[in-house]
Amino acid sequence: TLSDRLADTFKNLRGKGRLSEADIDATAREIRIALLEADVALPVVKEFVGAVKDRARSEEVSGALNPAQQIIKIVNEELVAILGGETRRLRYAKSGPTVIMLAGLQGAGKTTLAAKLALWLKDQGKTPMLAACDLQRPNAVKQLQVNGERVGVPVFAPEPGNGVGDPVSVARASIAEARRTLHDVVIVDTAGRLGIDAELMQQASDIRDAVQPDEVLFVVDAMIGQDAVVTAQAFLQGVGYDGVVLTKLDGDARGGAALSIASITGKPVMFASNGEKLTDFDLFHPDRMASRILDMGDMMTLIEQAEKTFDAEQAMKAAEKLSGRGGQFTLDDFLQQMQQVRKLGSMSKIMGMLPGMGQFREQLENFDEREIDRIEAIIRSMTPGERENPKLIDGSRRARIAKGSGRQVSDVNQLVDRFFEARKMMEQMARGGGMPGMPGMPG
Ligand code: GDP
Ligand code: MG
Repeated sequence: TLSDRLADTFKNLRGKGRLSEADIDATAREIRIALLEADVALPVVKEFVGAVKDRARSEEVSGALNPAQQIIKIVNEELVAILGGETRRLRYAKSGPTVIMLAGLQGAGKTTLAAKLALWLKDQGKTPMLAACDLQRPNAVKQLQVNGERVGVPVFAPEPGNGVGDPVSVARASIAEARRTLHDVVIVDTAGRLGIDAELMQQASDIRDAVQPDEVLFVVDAMIGQDAVVTAQAFLQGVGYDGVVLTKLDGDARGGAALSIASITGKPVMFASNGEKLTDFDLFHPDRMASRILDMGDMMTLIEQAEKTFDAEQAMKAAEKLSGRGGQFTLDDFLQQMQQVRKLGSMSKIMGMLPGMGQFREQLENFDEREIDRIEAIIRSMTPGERENPKLIDGSRRARIAKGSGRQVSDVNQLVDRFFEARKMMEQMARGGGMPGMPGMPG
């Protein structure tokens, strides 16, 4: 996965602090591969990678994240932005029925989606109606009727008695019917062809002109990968649409189509369909899709938590002390760092699920939270003077501290040794810059 490969790329960069041009190029290569593997269209990949490189060059190096995490964060933010940021909600008509028209190739999943969307709208308290305007395929009307029945939503269809025989009149009549029967949303299912076709586009445009939809949704099969771009552009020019619905996300496609379409058309992906069941449907979540495209597991959750947990101010204070401006690194600082580690330790379960966390993960897995309680007890039994200047802690003081904290003298000795080790490490890191890491990590 991308996170594994980036972690490999940055294996030797820990604590380096700043991304060099060579680091950025190496990263860009990995991102490029990941996107191509996800079936993102080449021009989109190029543009995207360029944008990420620009940001990586200009960005301040974060204290909370290692370089791989930092790059992934940038990549993720850019992906989410292109995919539409926040989920775009449906626009409803101010008065009269809201008209939602579906367009797309045959087999994209329009008819299935019509019923799924109707069910979803019902759950939102709407009273939708379906309009069967695919009169191309012999079974299309029947299919919509069957699905409509399954979700308990009426279907308006041409019948011998009702005087509508062509898709445009069915669409128009369905709106009138919705008004009359007080349905507040009409979902217009339309015909598709296997390939892009001028006659089909014309028909869809005619329906659009006749019913003036509040939303035209372009329905596209996520499995068609690169072809999605051509189709999406053709429909944008031929019919026009406001949003995109991705279907068949239950397949093994990584979802590159979402990025390609959103990037090239600038239209938001609004819904996602992920199965044959009529409940396999939801609002589209750009952040989840970004993770899927990059195959990142819960990496983003982890990055967010690491950032939250890491108290930048505290790190600054520690660094200042070490650079000599604010005095020495003390046992109080040491305790604070330990508590920091404890916060991270509670993430060790999530970490277990993550690829490529290497050394970081191992450390946390071997980490015993009770150890911090013991350390805390010992440090709290010291006087402020001893915490400020641990060199004061001689034999008799150690005995007193051990007694006060209910530990052995050997525990106190061990802690003091560990503290001096950590201080040395901190000093080294302060000289080298970069991530403070976790000095004094037990085990
Ligand atoms: P239309 O030609 O655009 O109306 O497409 P249909 O709604 O008839 O769907 C074509 C086929 O795709 C049908 O067999 C559907 O059951 C199937 N289908 C639709 N949406 C999904 C989905 O999200 N996942 C899966 N696995 N199959 C789907
Ligand atoms: Mg259909």
